[in-house]
Amino acid sequence: MSIDEGLNFMENPSSNKIKIGISSCLTGENVRFDSGHKRNSFIMNVLASHFQFMPFCPEVEIGLGIPRETIRLVRVDNETRCVGTKTKDLDVTEKLRTCATQQGHWHQELCGYILKKDSPSCGMERVRLYSGDMPERIGVGIYAKELIKNFPYLPVEEEGRLGDAVLRENFIQRVFVYARWKALIRDDFSWKRLTEFHANHKYIYMSHDQNEALDLGRWLANSSKIDSDDLQNTYLEKMMRLLKKRADRKAHTNTLQHIQRHLKTLLEKDDKQELQEVIEQYRNGLLPLIVPITLLKHHFRKNPHPYITNTYYMQPHPSELMLLNTL
Ligand code: SF4
Repeated sequence: MSIDEGLNFMENPSSNKIKIGISSCLTGENVRFDSGHKRNSFIMNVLASHFQFMPFCPEVEIGLGIPRETIRLVRVDNETRCVGTKTKDLDVTEKLRTCATQQGHWHQELCGYILKKDSPSCGMERVRLYSGDMPERIGVGIYAKELIKNFPYLPVEEEGRLGDAVLRENFIQRVFVYARWKALIRDDFSWKRLTEFHANHKYIYMSHDQNEALDLGRWLANSSKIDSDDLQNTYLEKMMRLLKKRADRKAHTNTLQHIQRHLKTLLEKDDKQELQEVIEQYRNGLLPLIVPITLLKHHFRKNPHPYITNTYYMQPHPSELMLLNTL
């Protein structure tokens, strides 16, 4: 995907909306055990207009019905099983696993998945796991676990964690990077095109972990002779691991300063000073990330620079989502 197509992809999502899987109850569907739902207003009021949601309820799919007996994770002989809370011989572990694998045909179309927290089917982490009557928050929902096993690089997040500004931005950023990755490998993949993709994402990587970003760049530079499948698999694994790391204020400041250096000979003294001060105020927590980024964009609009114009760091996702305003 070219940079223009990439931005168009974000600015006109209706023309080509990115698909995200989602636990049905979060969209307001009455699929829960008590015939209720857990509609999430941020997801439905903000994210829904930018993505095509693919709602799915594994418990309904395996025929548990609405309303239904509640189920929970229990440890049996060192194994995690998903069983009825009242009916002792109701064990839906295998049905949920099989269900997740059977959905692979549409899972492979996705660029992200939002799961309902705490669910023995959909929970991504910290689900109650019972040994006797004592639950520990160490379980993973059976459907979620199988989904993640089948698609280890798919960005997956829980609705509860989307309330955290950093985790929210991290998830949406990964979704957009993954969507561009899928477009890259769909059309005429080559090492050269991968190096262009890398250059356009270099500052995003740097904002997550500068050392790992450098390692990835070095590895790619020495990988032109690697078999195409190995090249794709290894780059994807390294990239998604890197993007999962939280981008903190210190790493963003470092990235902003790197970008700022491209303006070194182009700005007047007072503009340079203002930019430095704004980055410093961001570093000290006095301004959100959107402020230095907006100022940088303003200067690069007046002083176009091909390397920066093509980078996604300053436009990682649609501005209307306002995800940089709270970082
Ligand atoms: S958490 Fe998952 S299984 Fe439970 S109601 Fe929601 S979609 Fe269905």
